[in-house]
Amino acid sequence: MDPRKLFSDERLRGICVYCCATPDTRDHVPSKVLLDDPLPSDVSVVECCSQCNASFSLDEEYLATFIECVVCGTTNPADVSRDKICRVLEHTPALASLIAQAEFVDEDGQQLWRPDETRVMDVLVKLARGHAAHELDVLPPDDPIDVRFAPISMLDDQATARFVDNQETPFFPEIGSREFIRAFKEPHTLLLDQWRVVQKGRYEYLVTQVNGTIVRMLFSDYLAAEVHWD
Ligand SMILES: [Zn+2]
Repeated sequence: MDPRKLFSDERLRGICVYCCATPDTRDHVPSKVLLDDPLPSDVSVVECCSQCNASFSLDEEYLATFIECVVCGTTNPADVSRDKICRVLEHTPALASLIAQAEFVDEDGQQLWRPDETRVMDVLVKLARGHAAHELDVLPPDDPIDVRFAPISMLDDQATARFVDNQETPFFPEIGSREFIRAFKEPHTLLLDQWRVVQKGRYEYLVTQVNGTIVRMLFSDYLAAEVHWD
């Protein structure tokens, strides 16, 4: 079986994976702002429409910048680690200011940052849709039943084990999907339910089909997120 000739790819061709309109462009999953240059050569690419592509880009930039600012504890361009985010902060002072305003100190004196939940969740669902389409040839039709995110350091042991180790029993992926091909080529390991490292320390994800479709993402070894469709 030749993975380059996945027949299921044909089935999804001609559909924006985000809104099902006719696609006229392609989109990286995850978006490039979430990764450092040089980009890995094997970043997933999906078909989408220009409108979807454009409508998410500011929110993706917001999420990537917010995460980097929180991880580094600053909105000062000179003090963040990622070159790409340094440039975003330099060129978009309004965004730097917006994120700086999200910082507060709780009653215990701890420095915390309050994200714009709507923007974060929109990006998480968009990314999860892209991964589901690319890995499973699944286009989740409706809103997910659950979207959650938290710093991974705040998860208790049980939640961390569930998130990282995926302690649930997988179903076999649909015949013809990329996941199926991987399992077919390496029958001793069902790679569905294994984390894919897109860029070490920057972005990892896992796709599973247990009780629906679940996509988990880990940003900058910091933010853990899960999107769940029925
Ligand atoms: Zn679209």
